[in-house]
Parts: sequence; C-alpha cells; structure tokens
Amino acid sequence: MKATCWMGKKNVRVEHVPDPQILNARDAIVRITSTAICGSDLHLYNGFVPSMEKGDVLGHEFMGEVVELGKGVRNLSIGDRVVVPFPIACGHCLACQAQTYSLCENSNPNAWMAEKMWGHSPCGIFGYSHMLGGYAGGQAEYARVPFADVGPIKVPEGLADDQVLFLSDIFPTGYMGAELCDIQPGDVIAVWGAGPVGQFAIKSAYLLGASRVFAIDRFEYRLRVAREKAGAETLNYEEVDVLEALKELTGGRGPDACIDAVGLEAHGHALMYAYDRTKQALMLETDRPLALREAIMACRNGGTVSVIGVYGGFIDKFPMGAVVNRALTIKSGQCHVQRYMRPLLDRIQKGEIDPSFVITHRLSLEDAPEGYDMFLHKEDECMKVVLKP
Ligand code: NAD
Ligand code: ZN
Ligand code: ZN
Repeated sequence: MKATCWMGKKNVRVEHVPDPQILNARDAIVRITSTAICGSDLHLYNGFVPSMEKGDVLGHEFMGEVVELGKGVRNLSIGDRVVVPFPIACGHCLACQAQTYSLCENSNPNAWMAEKMWGHSPCGIFGYSHMLGGYAGGQAEYARVPFADVGPIKVPEGLADDQVLFLSDIFPTGYMGAELCDIQPGDVIAVWGAGPVGQFAIKSAYLLGASRVFAIDRFEYRLRVAREKAGAETLNYEEVDVLEALKELTGGRGPDACIDAVGLEAHGHALMYAYDRTKQALMLETDRPLALREAIMACRNGGTVSVIGVYGGFIDKFPMGAVVNRALTIKSGQCHVQRYMRPLLDRIQKGEIDPSFVITHRLSLEDAPEGYDMFLHKEDECMKVVLKP
C-alpha cells in the first residue's frame, strides 16, 4: 500500500510499504477514505520528537471503512464506516475506566522509553514515534487499529467524511481545552493560537457558555476565520501588546481562563523569542513556551490555564511565581478522544457545529509532502489539509 513516511527532518515521502495485518483478536484493518495533517505532525516534521525512525508511517487523524476484523471485535462489521481516535486505548485499565484514555496503561509497548523522559508513560499514539508505541499511522491507504472494539466510532448515514473526520483529534482536543477551563456562564476566555485546534477551542468555549472569547495569533487569515466562523474577537500579537490589550478588554482583571493551543514551537518577537530559539538550538531547552508564559501572565487571579498545545520536554523561564502567588490552576493533557466522540457527534448531528469549516485544502495522498510544506509555512492561507488516499 501507499503510505506517508517520515524520512528525516523536513522530509516526508509517499512510499510503498507492506499492507497492515491483523495481529491481535481485537484489531481491525481500516481502508482509509480521509486523513489529515495535524499541528502535532509538524513537531515530528521539524524533528522535535525523539525516537522517530526513517520509514515510520505518519498520521493520527483518519477514518475509513472496516475491511478486516479480529475475532474479538463484536461491535463492528465489515463495511462499517468509522472514525478512529488518535490515542490507542484498551478500555479496561484503571486509566481507561476513568475515561482518561490518553493515559491508557496497556497500549504503549515501549513504555520504558516514555518513562525515561516523563517518569511514567501515557498511551500509544498512531504514527507518533517509537517512544509512543511505534504504531504505523493513518496517512496511508490502510491502517491496523488495535483495540478496535473500544476506539472507533461508527458514522451514521448521511454525514460526509469532512463533517466527522475531526472527531479523531482536533474537535475533541479543542473541546477538552475549553472543558478544562470549567467555564461558568459569562466567563471570558482567551485562546492562544488560531490554528485548527484553537478554532475548535473557541467554538467549544462558546458551546460551554463563555460570553466572550479572544483569539491571539499573527496570521490575519486565521484570525479572520476565528472572527467569522468561530465568533471570536481577535488580537494580532504583532500589532498589539497582548497582555495590555487583554487587561484593557477585561476591566484590568484578565480572562477567567486562558487556553494554550500553540505548543512547543511558538513563534514570537523580541528578546524572549531569541532566547528560546538559541537555547533550543543548543539543546539546553527542548520547547519554546512563549504562548504558555503569556497565557499564565494574562490569566486573572485564581483563573485556569488550559494547556492543549503539545510540549515534549523541558522549558525555561517558567513563571511559577505567578502560578503560586496568584493561585492559578494549570490543566493539561493529550486529549481523551474516546470520551468525547459520542457527545460531539451528537452536536454535529444536531447542527450545533460543522467541523468542516477549518478545511482549506483537499489533496490526494500522493501530495502529502506538498501538504506538509504548505501547512508548515502557512502558505496559500492553509488552515487544514485533508488527504484522500
Ligand atoms: P497550527 O500549527 O496550525 O497552529 C498553531 C498556531 O499558533 C499558528 O496559527 C501560529 O501562528 C500560532 N502561534 C505561534 N506562536 C504563537 C504565539 N506566541 N502566540 C499566539 N499564537 C501563536 O497547529 P494546530 O493543528 O492548531 O495545533 C496546535 C497545537 O495543538 C500543537 O502544538 C499540536 O501539537 C497541539 N495538539 C494537541 C493535542 C492534544 O491532544 N493535546 C491534539 C492535537 C493537537
Ligand atoms: Zn493531532
Ligand atoms: Zn487502557
């Protein structure tokens, strides 16, 4: 089959690789009909995630048709259309029982690698390094889906791929980012990053009762989508001082909660950006937490900082003093996608949201390398690339 392979830093290629096979009774093989490139894939593309190997199959946002089933999977049938969540989760361990699926204790065969870096291991993830299981991803013609009796959700008749594909990751992720804010009616929320994840965080904050949502980015075309499609008020951090502006907009108090939907490759200007770039280049700091620092400084006293942008390692100049002295709460996590798929599918069916609003480019799988490059450089007003095998 054809698959998008990681070949090294800033190098992906569509190659012929062996077809996936059923290895366990609870596996399914899915023929992929739609798959997408995520901001998290850019961290792999840019070489920030250790334990990638040449030839690894990328992709963790995908859906398709069940073409083969292990004999332990009784809730799916051949021919079912399913969306597959990015965290691989067994459904039975303590973490899964608590619905914290991205912390599944049984799905990362290389847990020891993650333990070295993070103390304990989270779940395995499709197409996301050997440290997170070494599973082949879904930017391909087919994928093996472990624990297929727990993860994939059947797509009801009448919904197009474009409407449901993002249940695999970014819609639940943005939603969880907002849910972690424990939004009370009337709350004011600020979201750093107007990428696809930020857009869903904005939408979800409104769905959960926020009265005003501010979106922060520097790409005008993304801020335009945040305004026109997600209903945010926007701040371009290249034009205004974000901390000053947020103070002014909130009577001096700051937003009730701040969402970091940027992660470890934040961009910035002035001294702090130069500092982070240099320390990262010298490998004295793995991540550039510019948005996170700003989100902490902006948040009102006693508020919540929700971190759904991905961080991989260690950061510098973390304003811990602000966290303690102003009684801030920091919440975070890889999304527990399985827990959100059903309720968010209901919202799509009720017409409360149509997630396809983020799609700007539909390419064939063969064009994945162009897709990565365009998404990385935010060319051609690129917001979200969907690949069709
Ligand atoms: P993206 O690259 O399309 O968007 C990131 C946006 O952040 C860009 O528009 C960029 O201009 C903006 N940005 C950069 N620096 C900024 C700054 N200092 N202030 C404000 N905005 C800034 O990526 P995406 O697909 O939207 O993903 C965003 C993040 O979410 C990534 O880190 C990704 O890995 C992460 N993610 C996490 C989960 C999870 O489960 N926690 C799931 C999916 C994605
Ligand atoms: Zn993702
Ligand atoms: Zn589990």
